[in-house]
Amino acid sequence: MRIDIITVLPEMLEGFFNCSIMKRAQTKGLVEIKIHNLRDYTDDKYRRVDDYPFGGFAGMVMKIEPIERCIKALQAEREYDEVIFTTPDGEQFNQPMANTLSLAQNLIILCGHFKGIDYRIREHLITKEISIGDYVLTGGEIAAAAIADAVVRIIPGVISDDQSALSDSFQDNLLAAPVYTRPADYKGWKVPDILLSGHEAKIKEWELQQSIERTKKLRPDLLKD
Ligand code: SAH
Repeated sequence: MRIDIITVLPEMLEGFFNCSIMKRAQTKGLVEIKIHNLRDYTDDKYRRVDDYPFGGFAGMVMKIEPIERCIKALQAEREYDEVIFTTPDGEQFNQPMANTLSLAQNLIILCGHFKGIDYRIREHLITKEISIGDYVLTGGEIAAAAIADAVVRIIPGVISDDQSALSDSFQDNLLAAPVYTRPADYKGWKVPDILLSGHEAKIKEWELQQSIERTKKLRPDLLKD
């Protein structure tokens, strides 16, 4: 899989994708993540990619031309499954969406800034609009990092134990069961006996039971589906 991220703040994302599991996924050749500086696609002598909004509104708007040039340059090289725009009024990101996107070959993620991007880009070039929650960030970089991370971590081989990604919260519409490690007794705070029993089938049953109970209590909305 290949993910191309278009941003005015490449340094913000380079650090993120150069750490931990995201870095390892790239080293292992399971994903290619390319970060593009939108300012490289403008002819403006000050490398500006924003301009005043029509209508006299407050704030600045990202211009069409550099974004179109960058997207078209990428599309000339390969076919993209989706051209994603991160935006608070997009479809809310969730695990099923991450699962679907993880099957893609090539994705573009465009990060907005300022008041957003010229709406014509959304009408003509964007195929999917994603929000990471009902709050407004200063830019799309954190959203792009969240989307790419959730998508990449479920690509087979990225997390060493495939099962571990499948038993996380929201897979099967259930929250994960609690997890524990040594010591089994910390100043009287004890690990549930069943986990120390070595009885695999009973432990699996306990895990499912815990998942169901925690989902009923904390996120009953998930069980409606
Ligand atoms: N004026 C816009 C907000 C702009 S915030 C509005 O009211 O909808 C600047 C940029 O940050 C956006 O273009 C988007 O790319 C990003 N952003 C902010 N909040 C986000 C969220 N919840 N999810 C995804 N992207 C977000």
